[in-house]
Amino acid sequence: MLVQVALPVPLYRVFDYSVPVGENLPAVGCRVEVSFGRQTLVGIVVSHVATTEVPHNKLKSIHCRLDATPILNEHMLSLARWLARYYHYPLGDVLAVMLPSLVRQGKPLDLLITHWRILPHVTDDDFHANAVKQKQQFDMLRLHGERGASEDVLLLEGMQRTFLKTLESKGLIERYIEPKSAPKPVSLAKMPLDLNSEQQLAVDTILAAHSAQSYQGILLNGITGSGKTEVYLQAMQTVLEAGKQVLILVPEIGLTPQTRARFASRFAANIVLLHSGMSNTYRMQGWQDCRTGHAQIIIGTRSAVLYPFANLGLIIVDEAHDVSYKQQDTLRYHAADVALYRGVQYEIPVVLGTATPSLEHLKLVEDGKLSECQLRTRPGLAEPASMQLVDARLQSTHQQAQDDGARFDTGLTDALIAAIRQTLEAGDQVLIFLNRRGYAPVLLCEACGWQADCPRCDAHLTVHYRSNQQSKYSNYLKCHHCDWQAYIPTACPECASTNLDAKGMGTTRLSESLHALFANPQTSKTLYPIIQIDRDTTRRKDSWEQIYARINEGKPAILVGTQMVAKGHHFPNVTLVCLPNADRGFLSADFRSPEHTAQLMIQVAGRAGRGDKSGRVLIQTLQPDNALLLKLVKDGYLAFAQELLHERQIMGLPPYSHAALIRCEGKSLAATMQALSDAVAALPAGHQLAVLGPIDAPMTKKNSRYHAQLLLLAKQRPQLHRILDQWWPTVLDLPSAKYLKLTLDIDPVGW
Ligand code: ADP
Ligand code: ZN
Ligand code: ZN
Repeated sequence: MLVQVALPVPLYRVFDYSVPVGENLPAVGCRVEVSFGRQTLVGIVVSHVATTEVPHNKLKSIHCRLDATPILNEHMLSLARWLARYYHYPLGDVLAVMLPSLVRQGKPLDLLITHWRILPHVTDDDFHANAVKQKQQFDMLRLHGERGASEDVLLLEGMQRTFLKTLESKGLIERYIEPKSAPKPVSLAKMPLDLNSEQQLAVDTILAAHSAQSYQGILLNGITGSGKTEVYLQAMQTVLEAGKQVLILVPEIGLTPQTRARFASRFAANIVLLHSGMSNTYRMQGWQDCRTGHAQIIIGTRSAVLYPFANLGLIIVDEAHDVSYKQQDTLRYHAADVALYRGVQYEIPVVLGTATPSLEHLKLVEDGKLSECQLRTRPGLAEPASMQLVDARLQSTHQQAQDDGARFDTGLTDALIAAIRQTLEAGDQVLIFLNRRGYAPVLLCEACGWQADCPRCDAHLTVHYRSNQQSKYSNYLKCHHCDWQAYIPTACPECASTNLDAKGMGTTRLSESLHALFANPQTSKTLYPIIQIDRDTTRRKDSWEQIYARINEGKPAILVGTQMVAKGHHFPNVTLVCLPNADRGFLSADFRSPEHTAQLMIQVAGRAGRGDKSGRVLIQTLQPDNALLLKLVKDGYLAFAQELLHERQIMGLPPYSHAALIRCEGKSLAATMQALSDAVAALPAGHQLAVLGPIDAPMTKKNSRYHAQLLLLAKQRPQLHRILDQWWPTVLDLPSAKYLKLTLDIDPVGW
């Protein structure tokens, strides 16, 4: 008998190895170490076979097996096979994506739970007077008592691994593995709320699937602030009390601590957080805790959906429409789709919660593949915020004097400014959403029209500038696509004119304008804090907490934020939300842009009136007659989405067809276009796909590389996959594709 091993190499196949004579065959799902070419690799045994096509003298035997028992069970292996088939990605690479890096490297799984403790006979006398450092480290360990502590914890506290080894070699301390005790049953830490009837119906729907032990996909379609979390919590309670694990996916790493707090205050349970910011050791520990059942509530971002679970009972995908659930490189999976697959695997309910369902999910409801529960009311006193359009064509926008006396257009209409002032004077907070960080999006020469562009991308450089700081560290130009940076020139490189002007408005400039209006003793009686929330102001580790603390004081203030503020946050005192130019996305060339723009607008609008006071939302626009925008504002997101669905159906676009996007990247545009043309020519005769392209990608040049793309649309999904199965490997082998990077994206979310 031989083993077939999946290896982390970009080849669409598995590899046969023999096993040294006299040794047992490693079970399917075990890791083995093998030689591959001149490398030594760690792979996973995926099957046992009796024969091989590899000639006898070429057949190699495995170096060693790394696990006594399988680390991946049949569920995990069939998940891997499904991912490989569906996303047309090599099985070995799929497994590499699924496994935490330490597992992938072949580290023993119990490596993590190494504990250190002081040996019983040791006293202070065992130390030389001059071994101060050693004594210090020893005392740190002593603080943990006779059972010591895990190596992870000790290293976090500042202990050094070398000292642990030294103390060990001197016979003062020892390492041991603490067997993890079975987790205590989950208990309630706080009483649940009384559900309203819509919430009750949703909980009942989830629990019906739970008690029938059957798969059910449920779209929990609830307006912002309708109490989706309470539905999750009460459904979870029953599932957890039955001794099952619950997986909660959240879109953003920034949301995990907040989410954790909400769950931890309800349940006394082992809660594990999984996100990309964790150390490798912690990640492996989390993986183990999920696999052994030690973790009872698992909160994670996208990749948590690929973890092994001992006895999963419920999956919740919060903000299920969020595009960050789609992985944008390597294995381009969509975590919500994988969640549904896993629901089928484990025969459990999967809840997709959102206020703005994606068109794909609405279509699944229409097709009867998801059941839908709606939450149309807010439980508190507050009515959902009303939305109003402000016509920026009729109103003059506010002019702001600059330091040099020139005036600049703040882009805020007088109506908007008046509403902001009124809200602040009433003691409430205002949120202004501007999805563009930095000072201004363009630096323009007024004399000759030169613009500061990125030398590596088809993009303008963003002006980063603070008028109260002259330091070169706060004033610079930066490309937001490739991070290229430059100083702000004092004269135009083309015509030497010094008449250079920052055009347009980013969050920094908007904050400065608002500062001049609402926080300047010369213009304003009361001074209101302006709180800027974007990636530039939240980079430091604790900055979010500080910003939160300032907002939660509840005093009148203006928050200026990018899409970071759109998701999940709870700002109870915000009663006015302004969107000065959020509607631009309705004009984009990407057919998905209106959907994503509307989702973002509704999410931002949902920040208004979440406490007991009602809120309002002002959308300032230059296109107040835009039919889609009017539909959204007048009839709400669902009616708007139905309209978009209708358009997609007429045009045969997803979700009424199934898409595969092929991207090609190389050093010249001509080469990438040629490869994609050859790919089109290689499509099987009579393929019946709609072929769009090849065309140059929306941002053709990025980071000095050129990008072209090709979109394939199929009426039926099996038809698409059948063609891709045979065609994609031949595309990768095209002579013209040799020095290019080709990628395949199934169900792309944008292009
Ligand atoms: P969503 O996630 O749908 O935007 P949340 O779950 O944040 O909404 O709920 C909004 C607020 O309503 C929260 O403060 C929550 O505690 C409260 N809430 C939810 N359900 C109820 C209920 N049945 N009775 C009273 N308050 C509730
Ligand atoms: Zn010029
Ligand atoms: Zn760039």
